[in-house]
Amino acid sequence: MSSTSDATTGTTSTPWASDPAAVLAGLHGSRDGLTSADAAARRADAGPNRLPPPQRDPLWKRVLVHFDDILIYILLVAAALKAVLGDWVDFTVILAVAVINAAIGFIQEGRAESALDGIRQMLSTTAEVRRDGAWAAVDADDVVPGDVVRVRSGDRVPADVRLIDATNLRVEESALTGESVPASKDAAAVPADSGVGDRTSMLFSGTLVAAGQGVGVVTATGQGTEIGRIQTMISEVQSLETPLTKQLDRFGKVLAVVILAMALVMVLVGRVLHDFDVPELISASIGFAVAAVPEGLPALVTITLALGVQQMARRRAITRKLPAVETLGSVTTICSDKTGTLTKNEMTARTVRTGRGTYAVEGIGYAPVGALTTADGTAATLDAHRDLAALATVMMLCNDARLVPDDEDADGWRLVGEPTEGALRTLGTKAGVDPAGWTRVAVVPFESANKFMATLDRDPSGATFVHLKGAPDRVLDRCATQTTPDGGAEPLDRAAWEAHIDELGGQGLRVLAAARTTAPDDAGRLDADDVDRGLELCGLVGIVDPPRPEAVDAIAECRRAGIRVKMITGDHAGTAVAIGREMGIVDRPVGGADGDDAPAVLTGPELEAMSTEKLRAVVRDVDVYARTSPEHKIRIVSALQAHGEVVAMTGDGVNDAPALTQADVGVAMGIKGTEATKEAAEVVLADDNFATIERAVEEGRRIYDNIRKSVLFLLPTNGAQSLVILVAVLFGLTLPLSPVQVLWINMITAVTLSLGLAYERAEPDVMRRAPRDPAANILDAVFLRRILVVSLLIGGATMALFSWERAQGAPLAEAQTTAVTMLALGQLAYLFNCRFLDRSSLTLDVLRGNRVIWISAVALVVLQCVFVYVPVMHDWFDSAAIGIGAWARCAGLSVVVFGLVEAVKWLGRRRH
Ligand code: ADP
Ligand code: MG
Repeated sequence: MSSTSDATTGTTSTPWASDPAAVLAGLHGSRDGLTSADAAARRADAGPNRLPPPQRDPLWKRVLVHFDDILIYILLVAAALKAVLGDWVDFTVILAVAVINAAIGFIQEGRAESALDGIRQMLSTTAEVRRDGAWAAVDADDVVPGDVVRVRSGDRVPADVRLIDATNLRVEESALTGESVPASKDAAAVPADSGVGDRTSMLFSGTLVAAGQGVGVVTATGQGTEIGRIQTMISEVQSLETPLTKQLDRFGKVLAVVILAMALVMVLVGRVLHDFDVPELISASIGFAVAAVPEGLPALVTITLALGVQQMARRRAITRKLPAVETLGSVTTICSDKTGTLTKNEMTARTVRTGRGTYAVEGIGYAPVGALTTADGTAATLDAHRDLAALATVMMLCNDARLVPDDEDADGWRLVGEPTEGALRTLGTKAGVDPAGWTRVAVVPFESANKFMATLDRDPSGATFVHLKGAPDRVLDRCATQTTPDGGAEPLDRAAWEAHIDELGGQGLRVLAAARTTAPDDAGRLDADDVDRGLELCGLVGIVDPPRPEAVDAIAECRRAGIRVKMITGDHAGTAVAIGREMGIVDRPVGGADGDDAPAVLTGPELEAMSTEKLRAVVRDVDVYARTSPEHKIRIVSALQAHGEVVAMTGDGVNDAPALTQADVGVAMGIKGTEATKEAAEVVLADDNFATIERAVEEGRRIYDNIRKSVLFLLPTNGAQSLVILVAVLFGLTLPLSPVQVLWINMITAVTLSLGLAYERAEPDVMRRAPRDPAANILDAVFLRRILVVSLLIGGATMALFSWERAQGAPLAEAQTTAVTMLALGQLAYLFNCRFLDRSSLTLDVLRGNRVIWISAVALVVLQCVFVYVPVMHDWFDSAAIGIGAWARCAGLSVVVFGLVEAVKWLGRRRH
């Protein structure tokens, strides 16, 4: 009984020192795993296999951080000064505003964080466990002690596991041991007093499998694991900082210094030239400083980016890191996988080539219906065609895919495993191979660096064979003979096979080769070295993998948007180019227009022979990289980056991770990708589809546009207000705005208007223009000029209206209220100018397409009415009720401002 309770609390002692059978027995498990019912009971006992979320800063700390801000300091100083002067109403209002401002920051940051948290949940991992006698993929949360799990290269180990079986297994355990060189693992017991790093019979939760595969029994889950004990969370805590927010932060700081200097000048001028009294001057400079600091800016950018992350996730691109949203918008080159990303990855074997024969395969999809026919159209039997029998047997046995009848699926069959293997399995069944009676003794799993898979299989009579399938060139290299039609062997005709491979590849077919050899009856192990040479080539299979139609469109769209698209594939050059042509990636002769031009296709071996300089010279023009290994990707990325290209690179295998890290935007496959690549990636595609990358780039551009729009919108608010105060003091006029009124304007525009632009739709030309220069400052000359002009326009209108009201004999409170209303409505009108960056806003479109803008507008007007008419506001803000005439004048001038800004935009367009 005690061992059960041990198991459920996840603290089986020293399983690394016992042999696997004893550990299994101790956990009341078996090699065949648990039943679903048992697993459910154990989960209820042991709890979910998950670590508590990382400790966050306590609430008070997270709130207080938002007071650590230049604006708030200015406000606090202002409040203190007001207290000294005994102006308690202003003191309270200023303090209240400081608190509200911090609250807005806190809430927005919370929203940004929860948006990103939601994304993290979408990336929950799965584990392969044995349940009810079959391998099943379950949520890693549901793994329990006693489960038998299987891991292979690229996987994250779901729990602490005692190995039962391991093949070439190496695991990267730096999360736990700090050791970055992968550790070799096997099932042999180690001494009980071994340290964590020496427990080679154990796999630890959260570590990454670097190579090979293994099967083992779960000894501990959740907090009972080694990683749970040291309580570190692997998933990094998201940073809300990006290059853009940093850029704007810096800008804000510089601005703050300038503002303080100007405030000082203002005080001097006011005192010396105009004899203002001190409290009034203090009040004016406080107002000026408060007006000029664009404190809402970094928060606005962060929230826009975080909303962008959510919006992208809805389009199936999951952004793991906030800055990637920015980078995506500036991508100039996309390097994409072929299989499954550009193509559908619904594979069907079409044709079989052996030494002497060609066979056509009937039927499509994974349904095992359809015959294999010879050239004259008659059905081919295995007895009459021993070459076909040999090939079909290899393809059937050297295969991990399973096909299960499933009514929900279109053709009635569901594939469990890889599509390439599914196609070959179906081929074997169509040919009539019966796998019953064969047992698999050992396996060398497929890795994209090797491009082959090999198995050691024993038939019912006890005869043992090595079966190998893989990329044709790799298989060909290992063969000395070929199968004859009667099942014998003859010397290999290499030239003929190479011609066959080229021919099939030229038709866009994915080509796989099968080979075999005999092995001693007592053979029990198989290494990659065992299948080095001397095999017998059985033949080739040509598999169709149709392009994704949406990817074809997406490639065309990328090209219009000035983005190069390159295909990087492990597949044969002929196949890759044929598909590339179909998809619009290749549109010129393979060798380039003349001999000196860069070729359209470069193979891995050719790339390897090139110097870095040579590669750089051609890298931008090559369209297809074929027969590549993951290691080549990193050279391709670096060569592209040497030209200043911003590169998005896709990957799925464990070896792709370094290239994804090197790329500006690493893109991992959500479905077939390994945990290792997802961890290295900035973006994960939920559907593995190229079109999703293109959409993510479009989203990235849209979001960046919206940030520009927000900046363009927000800064003139500050500009106009500070100009008004500056001018008033410098010319010795009555202040049109008091500090608390400035605070009011800042606050309501921050709460209402500024967020609306984050929801703006993409400009129609967003994918018709060249990628943006990633080094360019968001506040370029054109921008600064427009911000200045708009500040002058809105500020001027405010001054004019204020003076006019005063000239008409309006009391100060009324004139100031009118000025505040003018600022609010002026900003509202300007918001509609900002909806379209350069495009004219003089169209009905400006009223459509963004509901949030209207909600903000209504909120603004309601708040402003409160300001004008609610009595308590009169006490707090010195506001006063104004008549319909004043409203009309504000509205009228706002329309004029709108028109003039459109004229400025028009002039800008003309100059271009
Ligand atoms: P891609 O870049 O097209 O996704 P992969 O790297 O997945 O290509 O595969 C490279 C080559 O390895 C394929 O062209 C094929 O010849 C071979 N191959 C792919 N899958 C398997 C497998 N399961 N077993 C053996 N060989 C395979
Ligand atoms: Mg692949």
